[in-house]
Amino acid sequence: MITIRPIPAFSDNYIWHLQQDREHWVVDPGDADPVIEVLGGAHLSGILLTHHHFDHTGGVKTLKEKYDCEVFGPGSIEGVTHPIQDGDQFSLMGCDWRVLSVPGHTLDHLALILEAEGDTHLFCGDTLFAAGCGRLFEGTPEQMYHSLSRLTSLPRDTKVYCAHEYTLANLAFASAAEPGNQAIGKRIAEAQETRQQDRPTLPSTIGLELETNPFLRTQSEEIRTNAVAHGADVKGNPVEIFATLRQWKDTF
Ligand code: ZN
Ligand code: FE
Repeated sequence: MITIRPIPAFSDNYIWHLQQDREHWVVDPGDADPVIEVLGGAHLSGILLTHHHFDHTGGVKTLKEKYDCEVFGPGSIEGVTHPIQDGDQFSLMGCDWRVLSVPGHTLDHLALILEAEGDTHLFCGDTLFAAGCGRLFEGTPEQMYHSLSRLTSLPRDTKVYCAHEYTLANLAFASAAEPGNQAIGKRIAEAQETRQQDRPTLPSTIGLELETNPFLRTQSEEIRTNAVAHGADVKGNPVEIFATLRQWKDTF
């Protein structure tokens, strides 16, 4: 059986640690030290990377030198031994993986999908967050909107492993964008309790995101109305509504 646990790093990053018997992999190790500490004396088999930002890749060099491990990720990132891209499929830890290109936050951003024991697990880096999405550093709103659509076409019970603990701040914005959505209020209460106990609010699920994430809800009348109040065209298409929401969130 595969176990998936978060390793907290920096102020709000999660490095996802996957273990199957004696095999260990990590996703987006921005820092090597917390990974080495969690592994104790165990060997690291490999690293998976979603995109090039330092808070996701900063630990690669040290970990690779220490464990001589494989590195799967976008080919442009230094240290990658197995370049992967959209449509690729491979097997790790006896499980099937597949790769989706999800440009927007960065142009090289990949989403990694793991099928294990009948469950779907999504490692989405900084593309989809609990109740939010990544900032558009390199891509266009249209690219990000399309990337998020690819992720939301996964089964509703897909577990979503984001790379940051941004949930409460994102929910505050979600609540401003769609105050009438009761599922958001319920989620805020749950997330507050979870954080008070110092536990991660992740993984989320695609189903919960579809219900509470404003960036996936551009069809909601209330969100459209509030986006128009923040500058979107009354007749704006979903991409324009999304772009306005993203801009509004940047200064929220
Ligand atoms: Zn990033
Ligand atoms: Fe990040």
